[in-house]
Amino acid sequence: TVTLRGIQKNFKETEVLRGIDLAIADGEFVSLVGPSGCGKSTLLRIIAGLESASAGAIEIGGAPVDGLRAADRNLSMVFQSYALYPHLTVAENIAVPLRMRQLSAAQRLPLIGRAMPGAAEQNREIDARVMEAARTLEIDGLLERKPGQLSGGQRQRVALGRALVRSPAAFLLDEPLSNLDAKLRVHTRTEIAELHRSLAATFIYVTHDQVEAMTMSDRIAVMMGGEILQCDAPARIYEDPADLRVAEFIGSPR
Ligand code: ATP
Ligand code: MG
Repeated sequence: TVTLRGIQKNFKETEVLRGIDLAIADGEFVSLVGPSGCGKSTLLRIIAGLESASAGAIEIGGAPVDGLRAADRNLSMVFQSYALYPHLTVAENIAVPLRMRQLSAAQRLPLIGRAMPGAAEQNREIDARVMEAARTLEIDGLLERKPGQLSGGQRQRVALGRALVRSPAAFLLDEPLSNLDAKLRVHTRTEIAELHRSLAATFIYVTHDQVEAMTMSDRIAVMMGGEILQCDAPARIYEDPADLRVAEFIGSPR
């Protein structure tokens, strides 16, 4: 579970999030939709630990994570821009979260006797997990390429692979399909839905695309002006919008 309680965020005088309460069950797929600037990305970054909240609390799997660094939160975030390292190969890009974990474990060792115990074994384990993630996303033929030698859709898969490789409790995706052409979007949307089914992991998915939200989600949270106006199953949101703003945004008949 991911539980948000009273999350607020101010940038100077601007209130960007005004008390977000949301509880997401294990394995649930929740989409965040709402007009540009309503605070979707900010909320996702706060959950990921990339930004701090001005007030409120976050629990993941029942444990508070407020003091935890992003790398220690057992979450994977996928950015709209993919944020791949151009100088690293696909395999190295996918391995980054596992390397970071390896590094932070090494930093916790005493200074004397710094050699990592079982480093070779760990490297084999990392290679195996990178390969597994790459196979799942059908990019195992591209492992030695650099991001600059890939199509947009392939880059997007590498970003997903990097999220997948650490087997996180939850995936946070910020408009991961928005840079793809229409046909590839539909295809990749189906694949993400399949990934969600097969992993049974929690997904929090930001999108501008109502159809995407309607078809993929267990629930949709409609945000506006830093608040969640309604969070319900897609059919419910459409048929029984909480107010006119939700109805207009979703495009429901009343
Ligand atoms: P979009 O759909 O366009 O991606 P969004 O819902 O993701 O929008 P956010 O990126 O979360 O919106 O931004 C919410 C508000 O917070 C915006 O008004 C934005 O200008 C403001 N904001 C975001 N980051 C900062 C920052 N670092 N400093 C000041 N204001 C910020
Ligand atoms: Mg955004």
